Amino acid sequence: MKITEQEIIDECRAICGDAHVETGNDIDPKYQRDWLDKYPSSPFIVVRPDSTEKVAALMKLCTATKTAVIPLGGNSGLTGATQAHPDQKAVIMSLERMNMIRDVNGDGRYMIAESGCIVENLHKAADQAGWMFPLVFGAKGTAHIGGALGTNAGGLNVVRYGNARALCLGLEVVTAAGDIMNLLPALKKDNTGYDLVNLMIGSEGTLGIITAATLTLVPKPAAYATAMVVVPDIKAALKLMNLVQNQTGGRLEAYELMDQVIYDLCVTNLDHVTAPFDYSPAFSILMEIAAGSPDDVKTHSDGRLNLATQLETILAMAFEQGLADDAIIANSEAQRQNLWAMREGALGAIQKHGNWVMSDVSFQVADLPNAIEDLKAAFAAVAPGPFCVAFGHMGDGNLHAFARPYDEDPKDHPTEAAAIKAALRDTVVKWHGSISAEHGIGQDKQAEMKQLKDPVAYAMMKSIKAALDPDNILNPGKVLL
Ligand SMILES: Cc1cc2nc3c(=O)[nH]c(=O)nc-3n(C[C@H](O)[C@H](O)[C@H](O)COP(=O)(O)OP(=O)(O)OC[C@H]3O[C@@H](n4cnc5c(N)ncnc54)[C@H](O)[C@@H]3O)c2cc1C
Repeated sequence: MKITEQEIIDECRAICGDAHVETGNDIDPKYQRDWLDKYPSSPFIVVRPDSTEKVAALMKLCTATKTAVIPLGGNSGLTGATQAHPDQKAVIMSLERMNMIRDVNGDGRYMIAESGCIVENLHKAADQAGWMFPLVFGAKGTAHIGGALGTNAGGLNVVRYGNARALCLGLEVVTAAGDIMNLLPALKKDNTGYDLVNLMIGSEGTLGIITAATLTLVPKPAAYATAMVVVPDIKAALKLMNLVQNQTGGRLEAYELMDQVIYDLCVTNLDHVTAPFDYSPAFSILMEIAAGSPDDVKTHSDGRLNLATQLETILAMAFEQGLADDAIIANSEAQRQNLWAMREGALGAIQKHGNWVMSDVSFQVADLPNAIEDLKAAFAAVAPGPFCVAFGHMGDGNLHAFARPYDEDPKDHPTEAAAIKAALRDTVVKWHGSISAEHGIGQDKQAEMKQLKDPVAYAMMKSIKAALDPDNILNPGKVLL
C-alpha cells in the first residue's frame, strides 16, 4: 500500500487517539534510551494502544505499509532488544496502557493479566487474593509481564517455581498480519499440535505481540526462613543445596551465590545495606526456605518459628559435614529484607563501580564447580583487574560473571574485553552451557548465537520467523541474523 509517512502517523492517531501517538521532537526521551544507556533509540512513531483490537489495527496498518514494529514493555531489558535504528523508521508500540488484570481465579489458581501490567503489581494482586505470583527479579517494579514473557525472564526463585515460561498457561497474541490468536484458557494439558504459547515466550517481540497472559498462582508460603551462609567452595555449595532440598522436601525458594568481589561491591556501594559479616567471605550463599505446613509456622517458647529451627538444624548438619563455615540466620523481617536488598541491589552496586564486561550464562548445575574454576583461570590470564565468576542464581546454574580489565572501562581495552568474552564463550561451549540464561539475545548476542546454536535449530528458527512474519516487520534486526 502506497502511503506517506504523515498518513501513517494520521492512521496511528485515528486508532489510538492523538494523546497516545508521539512523533519527531515530541517523543518522550524515555522511549529514546535503554536501561543501560547503551542503545539510544530513534523511533519514527511511538504508539500506546489500550486494547487488543487497537494493537491488531496497528499491526494491520504496519503490515500493509511494511513498517517495522518494536513491542516495548518496561524497557528494562539489557540486550538492546528494544532499540529503533534511525534508518528503520520503526514504530515503538508501548503496551504500558494495556495494564488491566482481567481475572483472578483462586479456584483455578490463575490470573489473566494484560501485557502492560508491571510485574510487581501482579504480585500485589495475587497477594490480595491470597495467592502468590512467584516471578521475582530485580526489575520487577519496572518490567511488564509482556516483556518478562517476551524475554522468558527468570529470577530469584526459579529454583522452586521455574521461569516465566513455567508460570504461563496461556497467551493472547496479535500476529504480524494483525490477527488475534486467543490461547488464554488455563489448560494444564493441551496436546493439540504445536505449542504456540511456548513458541511466543522468549521470542523477544519477533514473532507476535503478546497482549495478555494467563499466569499460574501458587500457594503463598506462610513464612520464610532466610540465611546467608559462608561455604568453603563451590562443590560444598552444591552439596549444601541438595542437602537443603532433601531436608525440606524441595521447599528451597532461593539459592543465590556470591563471591568476594560481588559481596564487597554490594557492601561498599549499597548505602541501604548492612554488611551481614564483619569480613568478606570468599563464597557465600543467600538461601531461603518456605513453610510447607501449619507446623512450620508454630512458635517455640522463645518466639522462634519451627521453620527457623528447621533451618538451624539443617545448617548444623552442614557444619558437621564441612559444607558451611559460617552463617547468619535472619531473625526478623528487617534482617531478611536487608539480605534481599543486598542481592536485589547487586546490579546497581556493580554499575556504581563503573563499566564491566558483563554476561549472563548458564551451565548444568552439576558442572558449576568445574566451569567456575575454568572461568577463573581464563579471566585471570587476560589482564590484571577485578573479576567475578561466581555470582548468580546457583540453583538454576545461572552465573552473571563480569570483569574489568585493569579496573578501567572495558571500552578502553577492547582486546582484553574481547578476550574475556571469548573465554566465557569457550567455557560455555566446553561445558555445553548457554550463552544467554536470562536476558535473551537482542542485539548483544546475535553473532554468538548464530555461531554456537545447533545449525539445524538455527535454520528452523529462521524458517519459523519467515513463516510468521514474512515481511520481517516484527522487531527486525534482533535475535536472528
Ligand atoms: C536491575 C535489573 C535486574 C534484572 N534482573 C533480571 C533477572 O533476575 N532475570 C531476568 O530474566 N532478567 C532480569 N533483568 C532483565 C529484564 O528486566 C527482563 O528481561 C525483563 O523481562 C524485561 O521486561 P520489560 O517489560 O522491561 O521488557 P522490555 O525491555 O521492554 O522488552 C524486552 C523484550 O521483550 C519484547 N517485548 C516487550 N513487550 C512485549 C510484548 N507485549 N509482546 C512481545 N514482546 C514484547 C521487546 O520487544 C524486547 O524484545 C533485569 C534487568 C534489570 C534492569
